[in-house]
Amino acid sequence: MTAAFNLRQYGIETETIYRNSSVPVLYELGLRMEKGTAISNVGALMTYSGEKTGRSPKDKRIVRHPDSENNIDWGEINMGLDEHTFMVNHERAIDYLNSLDQLYVVDAFAGWDPKYRLKIRIICTRAYHALFMQNMLIMPTAAELANFGEPDYVVFNAGGFPANRYTSEMTSKTSVDLNLERKEIVILGTQYAGEMKKGVFTVMNYLMPLEGVLPMHCSANVGEKDDVTILFGLSGTGKTTLSADPKRRLIGDDEHCWTDDGVFNIEGGCYAKAINLSAEKEPDIFNAIRFGTVLENVVYDKDTREVDYTDTTITQNTRASYPLSFIDNIQVPCMAGHPENIIFLTCDAFGVLPPVSKLTPEQASYHFIAGYTAKVAGTEMGVTEPQATFSSNFGAAFMMWHPNKYAEMLAEKMKKHNTTAWLVNTGWTGGAHGVGSRINLKYTRAMIDAIHNKDFNNVEYTTDEAFGFEIPLSCPGVPADVLLPKNTWKDKEKYEQTKRKLIGLFNDNFKQFEAGVNKEIIEAGPKLEVSV
Ligand code: ATP
Ligand code: MN
Repeated sequence: MTAAFNLRQYGIETETIYRNSSVPVLYELGLRMEKGTAISNVGALMTYSGEKTGRSPKDKRIVRHPDSENNIDWGEINMGLDEHTFMVNHERAIDYLNSLDQLYVVDAFAGWDPKYRLKIRIICTRAYHALFMQNMLIMPTAAELANFGEPDYVVFNAGGFPANRYTSEMTSKTSVDLNLERKEIVILGTQYAGEMKKGVFTVMNYLMPLEGVLPMHCSANVGEKDDVTILFGLSGTGKTTLSADPKRRLIGDDEHCWTDDGVFNIEGGCYAKAINLSAEKEPDIFNAIRFGTVLENVVYDKDTREVDYTDTTITQNTRASYPLSFIDNIQVPCMAGHPENIIFLTCDAFGVLPPVSKLTPEQASYHFIAGYTAKVAGTEMGVTEPQATFSSNFGAAFMMWHPNKYAEMLAEKMKKHNTTAWLVNTGWTGGAHGVGSRINLKYTRAMIDAIHNKDFNNVEYTTDEAFGFEIPLSCPGVPADVLLPKNTWKDKEKYEQTKRKLIGLFNDNFKQFEAGVNKEIIEAGPKLEVSV
């Protein structure tokens, strides 16, 4: 508690404010004040986020303002909000925060490069939220905190209190409202901590392109020869899992920027999926779960406090948040040079895409704009059909400008720095979901090792006639059969049929972008005519 610190400038009179508190203090407060909070057998803080166990993209709103209106790609992702309604929600958040006896403040940085970093202030009501953001942002030193001054952006997390559904433009009791002009984010009706993290990322995705910097939804690491790799991919494709590689220094697992000097991480921590986590398969992440780590929505044994990572009773989206320093091999400060390799991760539940292939620059642009992955259907009996998901820039949910803006910046930077692009399918092999199985993580790691060891420079390739990309025919540590999807399917006819179906989905999706991109990129997409 800092006696001199107050939040009166925001109209918040609450006197007891825990600002950048130590981990033990936050543990004690969490255990005392927040129902269900407990300590795991290895010392992590186990918490519940309440009703919402994932983000609420349909409840995100961006305030329309003449200064930014023409820059934003309005639509289903970036939905507008008028300033008055923003202020109604803002007032509601302030009233709620004022009703509490104590609040938490996290003053910290987003962005490791001092040239581009933002000073972020989180005002929240739960020790869980404070510890989460202290893990995820870059914490200031004591001297930096003393000179922190006024923040660039403020997040008012009043997620414990709902929005009023009768407020104009509100469609549910959850609302996450971003105001670029006031430099504020207001959260109502969701306590899922990821909203704060991805809210800050969304702000960076707006601001960075104004300075010629490319923000990216990717993980990044760097090898012994200082070679940088970035891994793009939608949720669940393996950014966090595959970037934790003991042979390489971790830069970050989710949000980075590419400047004229190289890449920097926006965050100070990682947010890993905990579902089915095991010491054998993901030792780095497993060992990062300790005192200081926030474990969200996991199920544990009530006597031993041992977590059952296979239990998805509360949610599939169980998570662990920990500072980067909990991983052994890290790059600090989290900045490095220009990427030598870019890997697009996709979890193809159709089992059609090869586990590794090499892309031309045009194919890279195509796949970056398409942003393909697939979800497996729900748990209903008999429903096994995968669902294709296309999300531009492998993260459209967090982007603010038109997808082409980011795509053009990426193409230009890749060209300038001679970056090679690869497509890695971490999804199904031996058939689509329901018949085949997810590719062995060991094999995926071996393929990524091969990229890093330049093993694919000296092997034979075959070109996929329909997709146009090149598939290496051998890879150390991986049976050759695995590299060509058709070889892994028993029913070859079914493979062709499924492939044609997937190509159709790619083509249908890309129609919306055809007017805005050049011909070479359109032609770099898959072709139905040559698939058989
Ligand atoms: P988010 O954006 O939501 O953080 P992410 O891209 O970081 O998602 P991960 O957290 O790495 O995704 O999730 C990948 C999940 O898939 C992990 O639970 C991992 O254990 C599992 N998995 C299984 N097989 C593979 C594979 N071959 N490659 C990568 N991940 C795999
Ligand atoms: Mn991740």
